[in-house]
Amino acid sequence: MNCHHHLYQWATRGLAQQATLFEWLVELYPVWALIDEEIERSAARAGLTALASSGCTTTTDHHYVFPRGVENLLEVEIQAAKEIGLRFHPCRGSMDLGRSRGGLPPDQVVEDRDEILAASEEAIYSFHDPSPDSMLRVALAPCSPFSVTPELMAETAEFARKKGVRLHTHLAETKDEEEFCLEQYGVRPVEYLEDLGWLGDDVWLAHCIHLNEDEIKRFGETGTGIAHCPSSNARLGAGIAPVTALVRAGSPVGLGVDGAASNEAGELGMEMREALLFARLAGGPAALTAREALELATIHGARCLGRETEIGSLEVGKLADVALWRVDNLAHAGIEDPVTALVLGPAPRVELLLVNGEPIVQDAELRTADELEIAREIASASRRLAEKMEVAS
Ligand SMILES: [Zn+2]
Repeated sequence: MNCHHHLYQWATRGLAQQATLFEWLVELYPVWALIDEEIERSAARAGLTALASSGCTTTTDHHYVFPRGVENLLEVEIQAAKEIGLRFHPCRGSMDLGRSRGGLPPDQVVEDRDEILAASEEAIYSFHDPSPDSMLRVALAPCSPFSVTPELMAETAEFARKKGVRLHTHLAETKDEEEFCLEQYGVRPVEYLEDLGWLGDDVWLAHCIHLNEDEIKRFGETGTGIAHCPSSNARLGAGIAPVTALVRAGSPVGLGVDGAASNEAGELGMEMREALLFARLAGGPAALTAREALELATIHGARCLGRETEIGSLEVGKLADVALWRVDNLAHAGIEDPVTALVLGPAPRVELLLVNGEPIVQDAELRTADELEIAREIASASRRLAEKMEVAS
């Protein structure tokens, strides 16, 4: 289960390499303002293929950049997920706090609050399928405390609950965000969110690195989920999330590859290994076992998405989402316990991936699309986006 992603970012890999989160965002917002449907389609297909090849059966996506005049970005990625064949939880994201009103993003990439709520309703109406074997469920996801007004956060929560869909956002990713919240709202990020009705078992939050003990306890008490994104957090030098403490407090802690602009890889297996290694860097060698890391990538992820009774473990009565890896090759042969081989060894390509019983990857090859063609398309889309940026600046 991949619990956090921005598929469109696959078209902007390798940029702003030494930047902090805020510097990285400021450099990339104007590039993202130039995405169009074709770029979105190529990026989504590339990101979904990387996930499938690493054994991911279910993914979410958090799409929050909607440039004016580009109509169908959410539809395009939904179509891509259908083609590749992964179970999909797209989030209708949003930003309404532009620079002129004290936010971080330039005004050209933010939307009006009424437009956002209307588009959210439309997305749920058109695509959300609440049935138990659903291949597609929509969530609502205002982007972050520094790009969204408190009014939009509160109204989105109320609206999502009325419609029975889940809530997602970024939280406590950097110290800069903490300072922003203290300065603008006089409280730390978690208190800000809680005041707006945003803690609960229908919410999962990306990152959650900078938390104190009370905040970890509140997450556990409320059943609030976390999408832990170790590679992205390391790439941006943001810090290490207190995964062991969050799990002990009772929170579901799923894994996320995050957007490919802050993690030039999008394979979920690597995140499992890094979650284990980082937990141990922070808390010593007993902080997380290989089996616990596998649970983050599976059942904890399913809990974040509200689907633990349907997916996330191999049990009678659950849906036929199954990933099989070979561990008899040079990379893993001789490690007696297959879970240790899978988590602590190099992340292998999946041998067989079934989603709803359908083969997506077989004999380690993608069966639903041509991977080489996807690679050519994303190379050309990335080049075209870079050229659009040169013309614009
Ligand atoms: Zn993110």
